[in-house]
Amino acid sequence: MNDRIEVALGDITKLAVDAIVNAASPSLLGGGGVDGAIHRAAGPCLIEECRGLGGCPPGEARITGGYGLPAKFVIHTVGPIWHGGRHGEDELLAKAYRSSLLLAEENGIKTIAFPAISAGAYGFPMERASKIAVGEIRSFLEKNATIEKVFLVCFSEEARGCYREALEGAI
Ligand code: ADP
Repeated sequence: MNDRIEVALGDITKLAVDAIVNAASPSLLGGGGVDGAIHRAAGPCLIEECRGLGGCPPGEARITGGYGLPAKFVIHTVGPIWHGGRHGEDELLAKAYRSSLLLAEENGIKTIAFPAISAGAYGFPMERASKIAVGEIRSFLEKNATIEKVFLVCFSEEARGCYREALEGAI
């Protein structure tokens, strides 16, 4: 199973995969972090398409074109804001991964790259987030044969270490 999951360090907007996932805000109208980077790289057509979607509640996902990105699609999902861990944050983060993977499956996507959803401005602890990400992705791939490769994209060495540990723990 772990041969279908790969940890990659760097900028998700550079990846030539079928879909990159965006850690979006509920308005889908742009923000900072990975969302800002994706919109800058995709160009203004992306925000135009997002305007027509009417937002996205936390835990759900929406798909758009990739426009100026090397990726064909962007899957926008909204993770939970961290409020200490006793407000359903784990379940909502897991749901954001599941919703994104389900949309990918429905759209025949074979290669997909995730940033560390909620682990930036939304404050979710990276180690806990990486375990949830790996757990959800593994259990989805066990039941799905169409997705060939999932990249876990990290923006720091710390994040890479967390993902590696989570993957080793999941063997
Ligand atoms: P959220 O609001 O869901 O926390 P952020 O964009 O603030 O989303 O952060 C999510 C994660 O994405 C963080 O770990 C951050 O370091 C990472 N990140 C930011 N820019 C990029 C990028 N260009 N490529 C990959 N990861 C990125």
